[in-house]
Amino acid sequence: MTWKAIEKPRQGWTVVPNLLDYERTRAEFSWDGARRELDGLPGGLGLNIAHEAVDRHAAGPRRDHRALRWLGKRGEVRDFTYAGLSALTNRFANVLSRLGVGRGERVFLLAGRIPELYISALGTLKNGSVFCPLFSAFGPEPIRQRISLGDGRVLVTTAMLYKRKVAELRASLAGLRHVLLIGAPEEVRAIPDTHDFHQLMAEADERFTIAPTAPEDLALLHFTSGTTGRPKGAMHVHEAAVAHHLTGYFALDFHPDDIFWCTADPGWVTGTSYGIIAPLTHGITSIVDEAEFDAERWYGILQRQRVTVWYTAPTAVRMMMKVGTEVISKYDLSRLRFIASVGEPLNPEAVVWGQKAFGMPIHDNWWQTETGGIMIANYASMDVRPGSMGRPLPGIEAGIVHLRKDGSVEMVDEPGVEGELALRPGWPSMFRGYLHEEERYRKCFAGGWYLTGDLARRDRDGYFWFVGRADDVIKSSGHLIGPFEVESVLLEHPAVAEAGVIGKPDPVAGQVVKAFVSLKPAYSSSEELRLELLGFARKRLGAVVAPKEIDFVANVPKTRSGKIMRRLLKARELGLPEGDISTLESQ
Ligand code: ATP
Ligand code: MG
Repeated sequence: MTWKAIEKPRQGWTVVPNLLDYERTRAEFSWDGARRELDGLPGGLGLNIAHEAVDRHAAGPRRDHRALRWLGKRGEVRDFTYAGLSALTNRFANVLSRLGVGRGERVFLLAGRIPELYISALGTLKNGSVFCPLFSAFGPEPIRQRISLGDGRVLVTTAMLYKRKVAELRASLAGLRHVLLIGAPEEVRAIPDTHDFHQLMAEADERFTIAPTAPEDLALLHFTSGTTGRPKGAMHVHEAAVAHHLTGYFALDFHPDDIFWCTADPGWVTGTSYGIIAPLTHGITSIVDEAEFDAERWYGILQRQRVTVWYTAPTAVRMMMKVGTEVISKYDLSRLRFIASVGEPLNPEAVVWGQKAFGMPIHDNWWQTETGGIMIANYASMDVRPGSMGRPLPGIEAGIVHLRKDGSVEMVDEPGVEGELALRPGWPSMFRGYLHEEERYRKCFAGGWYLTGDLARRDRDGYFWFVGRADDVIKSSGHLIGPFEVESVLLEHPAVAEAGVIGKPDPVAGQVVKAFVSLKPAYSSSEELRLELLGFARKRLGAVVAPKEIDFVANVPKTRSGKIMRRLLKARELGLPEGDISTLESQ
């Protein structure tokens, strides 16, 4: 089915979008101009993300503006102004420097979304050290792997997580010199070979001169989501802040009075680039919620915190769709102006549902851990074509390419033709390497392009459409089928909550399409429903693309950042080893 575009007004905005004239803005854009939006360190001493995010506001008219509002699981609320955050992050930088932790050394964070995480992240950057976040739900092995691969010098975690997950590994982490524990003093004191985070903070000076980092100095180490295999450590530098800032302006439409809520956990790149850095570089207020997804809690937060810009993920949208729209009408969400989503393809059904549920479409945007920031987006001012990721950011050149057998790259000009999504390197938040995997990094580039590993097509008007990850694409009877297309159609059926689609080896067709489907609460699985779904999909997709088999599952396996792990569905289907499942969400 083709979805009608959701049209935006051409004028009469209450808040005028930052990107009003796409073509012109692109034509006039330069990264040097974007660099000038940041201040640089005082005295021309370099560039440091934490200065741009915190100190420059703390030293100006925004010093008493709220930078972060933290909402605890149990209803606690804590506010941090820019001046307050500056002092606390200074303290943490002093803690690191007193411990002898130097520039470029890695500081790992293993904690839920608690204020200490945000303070440590920014304090680490002030010290010139490298911040590396981990999901608090990781088990011991993924923690050990990442800390040893990343040569972690410091680990900040809670006493509870340490006892449960890290204590047993400690002997195998020879390079890990300091462990800072957040917890009650008596609890921390009883744990050998660790420091008390809060005691060190209390003893530290709240003045600190930021390390004179250069734009190219390493700042962040992010492990990819591990959707398609073993996670890779993507390295980012301080200059990335230029792109974080710019994309916050154009793609998330930040305005000075905004209250922004990014629901992502900093364990995943979105939770750092947009859950910490981008809103702070703009001097706006960010909401941090410690709790996990709960539809009613979320609507309550949107209402009470008067959230204006909201950045979430398709998996959360699908969970909200499962709960339905009636409950939303109980909340006053009149402040909400812009909703965006990232992480996975956003099914057209979900975009249109947003319009019904919130009175505005959900704006899909596309990027990767490697790109450090949003690359392709739907903008506040532009019509939304449901199912499309939108158009490249100013400063970003995206193309569809075909790799030839001889290793050369051919750019596809024709609209509608599928190929690999590629980007011209050179934007500031571009990763500078995969940690210890030089060869793998090198292979990402060919013919002057960065190859993303995703397949897409571009339409006549320059909108990009996601087809699938190169690894997930199904070849059936000579056709290339993207699982997303099939999943999206299944999701249009009222019974379906989630769908994961794979290619199953077949002696005749090469592969046949197989779907795994979880149902909405009001439905239960039956042979009748299976046949109905098969028929429904066949009618819309045609016999070649429609699934030949559908299995009902309680949950579709996902990463902790909410991405469908098709490789795991496939491995299970074929009885093969499951591979790296360190990022698998517990089921
Ligand atoms: P790994 O590289 O370890 O397999 P991953 O690719 O899932 O994991 P991330 O960097 O977190 O790790 O995710 C980026 C990928 O997520 C993109 O390459 C793309 O496949 C997918 N993605 C992100 N946003 C979108 C979107 N809006 N539409 C479609 N796909 C998206
Ligand atoms: Mg990837």
